[in-house]
Amino acid sequence: MLGKMGLKPFSIYEITELTHGEPDSPRIVSFKMRPVDGQRFDFVPGMFSSLFLKPEDKLFRSYSIASSPNEDYMEFMIEMINGKFTSLLANLKVGDEIYVSEPRGAFTYQPDSQHSDLFLAAGIGIAPFFSMLRFLRSRNLKRNIYLFYSIKHKEDIVNSSELQSYEDIGLKLVYTVTRDHGDNNWNGERGRINMQMIKNHVEDFASSTVYLCGGIKFVKDIVEELKSEGIKDEQIKRDIWGE
Ligand SMILES: Cc1cc2nc3c(=O)[nH]c(=O)nc-3n(C[C@H](O)[C@H](O)[C@H](O)COP(=O)(O)OP(=O)(O)OC[C@H]3O[C@@H](n4cnc5c(N)ncnc54)[C@H](O)[C@@H]3O)c2cc1C
Repeated sequence: MLGKMGLKPFSIYEITELTHGEPDSPRIVSFKMRPVDGQRFDFVPGMFSSLFLKPEDKLFRSYSIASSPNEDYMEFMIEMINGKFTSLLANLKVGDEIYVSEPRGAFTYQPDSQHSDLFLAAGIGIAPFFSMLRFLRSRNLKRNIYLFYSIKHKEDIVNSSELQSYEDIGLKLVYTVTRDHGDNNWNGERGRINMQMIKNHVEDFASSTVYLCGGIKFVKDIVEELKSEGIKDEQIKRDIWGE
């Protein structure tokens, strides 16, 4: 079945750690897993794998890899929305096995030492950026990176202290909340990520490479705005996650 679906090769992984995001972002669960045969897939930060529970299953979903390629495990950050697949993932325990397809995708990170990188994430679209930032840290590479991270509420920020720690390697964090308009204790931006917000924070935005990850509307709207500011298609890398 998997061969016919073009998903081979795949490997059996064992879940070794499950971390629920509570008290913050309670719907996000981090799944860490190790290959049963000890041969972890190679990948470039930004790639994704498909996960499925049984090799004969037709049901699978794709997830961005959140861990760095230098680790001996793979980590996925999954928003448990109680959909067809996430409701099955919710039953998994440490020690259970899961099938992981070979990583793929064109949303790969090439650190740029000349210009700023712009990372634009909506919601759980933050996952592949963890892989990129963890990779930079593992190599001790400093880069000029602006991460614009849009969440509905400030409590939805995933691993905020880890994100803050990347300021050491050149990360500038810009959070924006799309729902908490009345919160007087919020110092970040408000509303969806847009061109004006980017211009307010990034001087050399016109020469940046832009990495975008989130739902189709988020990606389409921003790409249009970026292009109307003269940013060329080849400067924009996008990972679109369905609707
Ligand atoms: C390349 C790629 C990488 C992805 N990486 C991740 C990742 O790292 N983490 C992650 O959580 N998801 C990721 N997704 C989304 C994931 O593949 C599933 O679509 C998601 O987990 C929902 O699956 P489901 O079967 O539970 O929901 P379904 O039963 O298939 O869908 C239920 C409905 O919920 C919508 N939906 C999907 N995701 C969300 C969401 N986060 N919030 C609100 N509505 C949603 C769907 O569009 C659909 O309308 C990625 C998708 C792609 C294509």
